[in-house]
Amino acid sequence: MGQFNTLGEIGTNKSGQNSILVTGKGSDLSNNKTLKGKAKRKTITQSLMRNLIDIAKEKEDVLALGSYWNTYYCQNRIIEADGRSYGRYCKNRFCTLCCSIRKAELVNKYLPIIQTWEKAYFVTLTVKAVKEDQLRRAIRKMLKGFTEIKDKHRKRWQRRNGRRLKGVRSLECNFNPKTKTYNPHLHLIVDSKETAEILINDWLKKWKAGGTNKYAQHMEQIYNAESGLIEIIKYGSKIFTEPDLDKKSESGMPSQIYLAALETIFSAMKGVRIFERFGFNNGQETDEIENNLLSKTKLVTDYKEFEFDPAKSDWVNTCNDEVLSGYDIPIKLSALLTNGIDKTSR
Ligand SMILES: [Zn+2]
Repeated sequence: MGQFNTLGEIGTNKSGQNSILVTGKGSDLSNNKTLKGKAKRKTITQSLMRNLIDIAKEKEDVLALGSYWNTYYCQNRIIEADGRSYGRYCKNRFCTLCCSIRKAELVNKYLPIIQTWEKAYFVTLTVKAVKEDQLRRAIRKMLKGFTEIKDKHRKRWQRRNGRRLKGVRSLECNFNPKTKTYNPHLHLIVDSKETAEILINDWLKKWKAGGTNKYAQHMEQIYNAESGLIEIIKYGSKIFTEPDLDKKSESGMPSQIYLAALETIFSAMKGVRIFERFGFNNGQETDEIENNLLSKTKLVTDYKEFEFDPAKSDWVNTCNDEVLSGYDIPIKLSALLTNGIDKTSR
């Protein structure tokens, strides 16, 4: 499957030390909290992937099966050298390890711009909840509708007779386990109240024949651009869908993960853009994961090699018992991943 292709040959240099080829800048290992967070995400991801692999096998979906395995092995083997860790990222949307990097990247990229908007507004545009078999179509229809609105105003603005709509938008979909329905929606941060109003009005006009109503749309001023931005970038879906939407149990942990529903969402969103900006440029487009893959390989000596051990929820040194992060999985999370995964509701 080639998941180890960025970590290269092991050789011996003149002084007899072992050396290994690594790719990219690597990640800083000095912050143990970050490292433990990574171990937690790796644990969750592997557990979800094991179950998604079962689902894909049942559906005989060979393509999905390959991607899930790829994500299963994301950052599975880590080389530690010079206080940095090197490993391979799978770059899949449903990988919590890769998504957390993407999220941080998007925040770094867009926060400085959003902070210059005097009165940024948060907007939610929704359509009626749909059943599983309608989701793919509903998502495409929504995005098409949004693009049409955006383009109409861009053309007007170019003819100097309208306002340029500026913002970022993110697509999200939640599952309601009670009604077994999905509610795809767009979260936006826009530059002004005027833009927010135009979008909601035009959205309602688009769906005036039914499909949504004005009470399901939402706008409010943002006072903290950073938390606002983090709030909208969930990369498609919350992994943990609550039985009572957005209501967590006392422990702060949900009691169930609706994995089959999550799989429905991922597959319905395949090939569509989850996040985009409109009405402004942001200079250079960068992609840290991509850059990391394109950057040069280098030879490191005096390295340690770790492999992820699901039983320990941590990476373990391949030569001894040393663990990389020291992460201890909380009992509640462990119980959730063992007994709380619902593989049938969708
Ligand atoms: Zn990944």
